[in-house]
Formats: sequence, C-alpha cells, structure tokens
Amino acid sequence: MPTKVCKICFKEIKNGAYHDFLNNGIICYNCLNHLSPKFIEFKIDDTECLAIYEYADFVKEKIYQYKGCGDFELANVFIAPFISELKTLYHDFEIVLVPSHKEENHVYYMFSCLGLKIRDIFYKSEKHKQSNQKYKDRKEVYKYIHLKNEESIDFKGKKLLFVDDVCTTGSTLRSCIKMLKKFEPTKIQVLVVAKRVFSENEVEELKKHEGISNLEII
Ligand SMILES: [Zn+2]
Repeated sequence: MPTKVCKICFKEIKNGAYHDFLNNGIICYNCLNHLSPKFIEFKIDDTECLAIYEYADFVKEKIYQYKGCGDFELANVFIAPFISELKTLYHDFEIVLVPSHKEENHVYYMFSCLGLKIRDIFYKSEKHKQSNQKYKDRKEVYKYIHLKNEESIDFKGKKLLFVDDVCTTGSTLRSCIKMLKKFEPTKIQVLVVAKRVFSENEVEELKKHEGISNLEII
C-alpha cells in the first residue's frame, strides 16, 4: 500500500492502525485529537444546528491557514474524519451555501466531500464583512443578502442543510433561514465546521461594548 501522509502535520499515517483507519486516512490520530471534535448541538430560533468543533486554538489556526493563507490541502480535513456519519445523517439533504464575500467559495470545498447537491443561491449586495462588525451591525446583515434567480428555486418538500465554516453570532444563518422558509422546504438544518462559544464573561463584555442589554447569543 502507498504511504499516506497526514495533511496537517505531514507525518506518515501508519497503514493498518485502527484509529487512523477511522480517520479515513486524511489526518493522523494525533492531529484529530488536537482538533478535538466536540459535536456541539445548538439552535438558531427553531432550527437544529450542529458544529463539529469549537472555534478556538488549533481549529481556529487551521481554518485560518486554509481560508486566510489559501492552504487548499486543508479543505477536507475538518469533515473527512466523520464523513460516513455525516453522510448517514444528511443523506437526503441538499446543501445550501450562505453568501460569501469572497469570489472563490472556500466553504464549498470544505463540504463537497459529502457528495450532496450544493446550491449557491445567495449573494451579498455590498461588502459587509461580518468579522469587522459590531454585533448590532451584524444583525443588519439581512439587508445585504439577496437571492439569485428567485423564480428558479425549487425547494418545496426538500430537506435543506445550510453549511458554513464558522458560526459566531448566527446572524447570517438566521437571515438566510428566514428567507428560504417561504419556499416551503420540509426541513432546514445547519452544519458548521466550528462554533464560537462565548463564556458568560465574554457575553457581559460584549453587552458593555455594544451598549445593548438584550443580546441574542446562541
Ligand atoms: Zn497529523
């Protein structure tokens, strides 16, 4: 058998090692431990959401290496270790991409390994880079989100899976979910690679910083 090399640390993945077999031979057991999958279940209003990792430390660093530095080899390292489980969970869903402010859609390549139909139906009308926004401005994101070719959208009776790399406040996802409800899909769920988890102190800090008391933090 050819030698397989971990896409994160470049060390050899030993053929036949049980835990490396479980990782589908993309990353080694050690790197998977560093990524530390948590499977965080949460809700955006009444929509069930799942995050594989917490957005912190090693995961944050590797996502940045992928999308910030363009290390394309990392596209499927986040999803691949759980591909069989995720394929079972979402086998009859169609993926819907949230609008991106970049031309090349790095999220597309993170989730394309699931083999599901991927729909790219949103666009943003002007630059509204979420990470630079205050929370109250993030809530305004819906003003910038629009549907491409609305008349060709055929979601009636379908199961839709919104995907994204990082969920921070969920405001983009919330806006997108609201926009698609009128097309009468039977189900909408969310799968994100990582979720930012706020501590109570961080929420307090954020409230002070924003000057608002009723923050919806998911
Ligand atoms: Zn490794």
